[in-house]
Amino acid sequence: MLHAHSIKLRFWMIVVVVWVAAISASAVTVFFSARPHLAYNQARTLDSLAETTVLRLRDVLLQETMILEFMARQPALVSAAMGLEDDSFLLSDYLETFKPSDSVDRIKLLAFDGVQIAEKIYREGTVYAFPADKRAAFLRQVIDNAEAFGTEGFTIPILHHHDGDVAHIFVATPIMFAGSLQGILAAQLEIALLDTIPTSALVSSMRLEHMFSKPGTEADVHAGDPDGAVHVDVPGYGLSLVLEPNWSVLQQAGRDLVRGTVLALSAALGAPFILLAVLGHRAIVQPHLHLQKQKKTLAELAAIAEKASDAIVVTDLAGRIEWVNDAFERLSGYKAEDVRGKSPGAFLQGPDTDPAARALVRRHLAELRPVQTEIQNYRVDGRPYWISLSISPLIDESDRPYGFVAITNDITHRRMREGQLREAQARIEHQANHDALTGLPNRRAFDQVLKMRATDPEKSEIVVVRIDLDHFKYVNDTHGHAAGDTVLVNVAQILREETKASEIAARVGGDEFVVLMGKGYGMDAARRMAERILQRIAAPIPFANCTLSVGASFGIAGTAEGLLPLEDVIVGADVALYEAKEAGRGSVRLYTPSLHARATEHRDTAAKLRGAIEGDQFVPFYQPQIDARDGSILGLEVLSRWQHPDGRLLSPDRYLPVAEKIGVLTEVDAALFRRTALEIGAINSTSRLVPKVSFNVAAQRLADPEVLDAAVALSCEANFGVAFEILESVLIDNQDTAMRYNLDKLRDAGVGLQIDDFGSGHASIVGLMQARPDCLKIDQRLIRPITGLDGARQMVSAIVDIARALGIDVIAEGVESARHAEILLSLGIHAQQGYFHAMPMSSANLRVFLQLGNEPGTAPLSEEVAEVAARRRV
Ligand code: C2E
Ligand code: CA
Ligand code: CA
Repeated sequence: MLHAHSIKLRFWMIVVVVWVAAISASAVTVFFSARPHLAYNQARTLDSLAETTVLRLRDVLLQETMILEFMARQPALVSAAMGLEDDSFLLSDYLETFKPSDSVDRIKLLAFDGVQIAEKIYREGTVYAFPADKRAAFLRQVIDNAEAFGTEGFTIPILHHHDGDVAHIFVATPIMFAGSLQGILAAQLEIALLDTIPTSALVSSMRLEHMFSKPGTEADVHAGDPDGAVHVDVPGYGLSLVLEPNWSVLQQAGRDLVRGTVLALSAALGAPFILLAVLGHRAIVQPHLHLQKQKKTLAELAAIAEKASDAIVVTDLAGRIEWVNDAFERLSGYKAEDVRGKSPGAFLQGPDTDPAARALVRRHLAELRPVQTEIQNYRVDGRPYWISLSISPLIDESDRPYGFVAITNDITHRRMREGQLREAQARIEHQANHDALTGLPNRRAFDQVLKMRATDPEKSEIVVVRIDLDHFKYVNDTHGHAAGDTVLVNVAQILREETKASEIAARVGGDEFVVLMGKGYGMDAARRMAERILQRIAAPIPFANCTLSVGASFGIAGTAEGLLPLEDVIVGADVALYEAKEAGRGSVRLYTPSLHARATEHRDTAAKLRGAIEGDQFVPFYQPQIDARDGSILGLEVLSRWQHPDGRLLSPDRYLPVAEKIGVLTEVDAALFRRTALEIGAINSTSRLVPKVSFNVAAQRLADPEVLDAAVALSCEANFGVAFEILESVLIDNQDTAMRYNLDKLRDAGVGLQIDDFGSGHASIVGLMQARPDCLKIDQRLIRPITGLDGARQMVSAIVDIARALGIDVIAEGVESARHAEILLSLGIHAQQGYFHAMPMSSANLRVFLQLGNEPGTAPLSEEVAEVAARRRV
């Protein structure tokens, strides 16, 4: 893979190389096509140069020889040569006068035998001295020529020496007289060859050469000389001019030609090549680089796709598979070559694939839109698996779709987990919202449904029916829990059958049920339904070898009357239910305006009660328990009173049930304990007038550790004995081990136990033996009739017998007259409590009462105390 950098470099190198090659080729072509012409022209130039030079030279020579010939005919010179004239001085003057030209250096006059007669030197110093022998030979030849030919047709021989550009030429002319040679006139010339001709850079040097052997009359050019020199004969003088071409110049010309061509071509080709480079870069290099980059990106993508952990499928526009990656093969089990060309849907999807998901995918693909979904596929071996599928169209560079890519990953585990989770959640939710035994919705579910109904925009009336089974505890206790369960399941079934689909029946407590009426069903409909249900519940249910029968009470409340806001409708139904129970079991009560008034009062009382606790308005009243034999005080029963700020004194039945209901009984009792301890403690501080104090305690509150602790503390610290009066029902509940434990704890702390209202309930002798109370307090309802009915007396007598048999004391309450006191004494009951002996009274009155003492049967109270007592009875 070439880098972009090296590709650009290569491109530029190619451009430059081609450019250079183009220039070189052109240069070579030009060189080879132009060189012969150059050489020819050079040769022609040299030739014409040579010819011009020869012509000039010949002219010079001609001129000099003509002058010489002319001089040689001068009589003075002839006579001098013949030796007739001897005045050399004259001769010199003569020669001076006839100075032939500037090129003549010297002239000599010689006798016919060559002996020098006179000599004239024109230029001293520069004269070249020909060697004597050469000169002698030359003169000999002149003489021979003259003798042979005479003056006519005589070509003057020339002796020459070459000295650089300067040719030293020795010319001679015979001096004839009367047809015979008389002497010789010789002149030495010095010709600066380069001065005679226009100099040329083409010629490096010129020289003259002899050519005796080849006399001619015309200039002759000897071309093709092996060393390249040009030879031209100087006609008539036996000389040849040799031109040495200046090779370096000639070659330089060739080189210049090439260089010029190269430079011109470089410049000329530069622009096209730059254009080529720019266009080529744009049209070839850039696209190439782009492609290469794309190729690289694609290769990387392909590698990534190939190794991706997600399964990838590429299809054409028709949805036929073109490519799949390894992960696809692993996930689906299909081999790439087996699925190519197929449509994925055709072999991956199966019977359980969600048609909606398939349709979604198809629709998006048809519209060339991306799509994501979760879908079930099948492996090659038929095993189903879940994938999250994401398909996108593939778009080419010109924005045309050409296929799809589907990326999928295996979410089978997640789906499984989700499925399990959903099931578990549903189970938990069902458990959280349903009662395990009956399968009915529980309180939580009911509350939710009620809340939903509350947001109903139609604001339809909401009617709730509270159902409480009667005698259920009895069934449970006597027939066992399985029987109880059967009853509950039966009731649930009845509720299910009697309620409509739009209604909800829930089990909200042990034997408590509630029904939310459907929309459009009011209180009357609810009452009719309740009566139907009541009838069915009351029907005996066969169980094991016996039949079970329970009843039910119904309380119905609704929002329509405007009496109740939605959040209180359940409470309203509870109030109505309470009413129903009060009215005797097996009845149906509606939350009516009058009930509402009572409930409201109850609510007000509750509010005031809280204020009373804070304001410490509960005061203990004390009713003495008397030994009827001597009138001595056995103890006191503490009875709670509410000293209302408006002056009224309220009796416990007006507020204790409310206090219990709203959960403040503990506080009321605690206040009573505290005040009693203070008041009786103070009375007993001087002398022990009160031996024992009894408190009324509800049996179920014995389980309250606070009550226990308070009793134990009081019993330890008080300067009087402490006893608890507990209703007879405790004897039934005594089977309960927790209750027994509580009683034992009280007994251990020295708290006496009295059974209150004994004889009114269902206490059994077994229960008595287990609870082991200190004392039985016979119910006033049994005591009151003893003055009339024999049976009543016998009943009391029987209780006394049982108590005696078990070693338990007996006290009678409701002793209202002397007759009662007498009869009771006759029955052996001397511990007595009642209006006959003493009224319940405040601590202040108690002090008076204790001081005055008491005579049974006589009115022991002061006027003041009696008045208080009378007021209190209201
Ligand atoms: P109880 O324990 O059976 O109390 C005796 C009730 O009979 C008292 O009514 C008392 O005033 C009344 N009484 C006493 N002698 C005679 C008589 O000769 N003839 C008639 N007709 N009545 C007589 P009271 O004080 O109104 O108490 C009613 C009930 O309230 C009590 O019945 C007791 O169960 C409960 N109670 C009173 N004080 C407390 C208390 O502090 N705590 C609790 N838990 N319950 C209390
Ligand atoms: Ca009592
Ligand atoms: Ca009582």
